[in-house]
Amino acid sequence: MDRLRIVPKPLKTELLGGEISINASDAVFSIEEKLGKEEYVLTADQNGIRISGGSEQALFYGRQTLLQMKGICPCVRITDKPAHEYRGFMLDCVRHIFSVDDIKKLIDAAASLKMNRFHWHLTDDQGFRIWLDSRPSATIEGSVRKRSEFGSLKEEGEYGGYYTKNQMREIVDYCAERFITVIPEFDIPGHCSALIHAYPDIGCTEKPVEVKTHQGIFEDILCAGKDKTFEIVHDILSEILEIFPSEYIHIGGDEAPKAKWKECPDCQRRIRQAGLKNEEELQGWFTNEIVSFLKSKGRKAIVWNESLKSGLIGGETVVQMWMDPKKDSVAFANSLGGKIIVSDFFHYYCDYPYSMTPLNKTYNYKAVIKGIKNPETVYGVEVPIWTEFINNFEHLCYMFFPRFAAVAESGWTAEENKNAEDFRKRFRSYCAILSKIGITAAPPHEWNPSPLARATGTIGFMNRNVRNKPKNK
Ligand SMILES: [Zn+2]
Repeated sequence: MDRLRIVPKPLKTELLGGEISINASDAVFSIEEKLGKEEYVLTADQNGIRISGGSEQALFYGRQTLLQMKGICPCVRITDKPAHEYRGFMLDCVRHIFSVDDIKKLIDAAASLKMNRFHWHLTDDQGFRIWLDSRPSATIEGSVRKRSEFGSLKEEGEYGGYYTKNQMREIVDYCAERFITVIPEFDIPGHCSALIHAYPDIGCTEKPVEVKTHQGIFEDILCAGKDKTFEIVHDILSEILEIFPSEYIHIGGDEAPKAKWKECPDCQRRIRQAGLKNEEELQGWFTNEIVSFLKSKGRKAIVWNESLKSGLIGGETVVQMWMDPKKDSVAFANSLGGKIIVSDFFHYYCDYPYSMTPLNKTYNYKAVIKGIKNPETVYGVEVPIWTEFINNFEHLCYMFFPRFAAVAESGWTAEENKNAEDFRKRFRSYCAILSKIGITAAPPHEWNPSPLARATGTIGFMNRNVRNKPKNK
């Protein structure tokens, strides 16, 4: 089976006896309606290579498997389909921006690993990276910060950049050709310093706010009491919807401190008029306003799990669970049938070093949520990378791979077919494909550091980045 090192591991592999020389261009493809939308059967024997699938997407996945079979292979029948519907990766292009060409490399890797979602984090405190025709100030003013001071990663001088509409459409098309949906994220009402810098009158105090130069959680969030906020947010979303055809739009909702809302007369008036109990409910109300707007345009929302604190989010919204100590996501799934995307911070966040999150920890994490009654409410998995401490593509790839592939496998491969040691072997073979794409993974000896290396690596990372942080302002 050494010649059949496929990532992610297929559902079922049957050896048929004998061997065949694989030439991918000889494969014959056919649609078979009885197979599922993402299900394919690949047969390679003396009669040649046949791939049948339930859709063009399924045939594409069969082809990705075939491309990992090289030279002389045992004759084989591979019957395969994904464990989860949603299999994604997230890239933060705010803290550091990455070129369209580099993003395409990640998309190529995702496609080859049978992922089907690209969550593109485009707005945050440290920059607003979407070009807007209706609100050009958001981009012109909001895309530039005066300097960068992310822990030990300090860069003097202005840092800026954004994606033009043509560039974003290019990414959408490139993904569509690979059966990947792009889900843009416009993070509101928190993480909006860059937008409030451009439009101070949609903050609670209406005072100038800087585009942030360091990481953190900041108190200046969008004012939920002012109608102007919704005018601007609707304008921005309308343009986002023109560029991105995805059913789901990510509207953030994470890390929104309520200090300004508590003191803001407009926000307090909104709480009274809408009959809300407190600022947490105000965030729920805010989110639901945006969800209604999206619904009027035929779209739906994804939010980070903090949005559930209000208790007001409806079951049609998808929740991305990253840090949920109170298990709000479980209650949401069980009581409303709401769908959950699993992106657990301690296991899936690839911006943390291998000393904190070794490959095995990522790989062995089960994408099942304890306490969930209906397993179908687990929509799938997503591997995120935040880029405060990552300012070039080489480092991004080092941090992402192999953990990116480990999460792809958790999304595709049935839990009972997973095996960490086997995955590591298969990933080593898969590196040849990554290399052709232009991606270099972290070297194998760094994937699972020793306990001592884990301790020193973690302390070093914390000292460099977390303790070395300017006070939020
Ligand atoms: Zn306010």
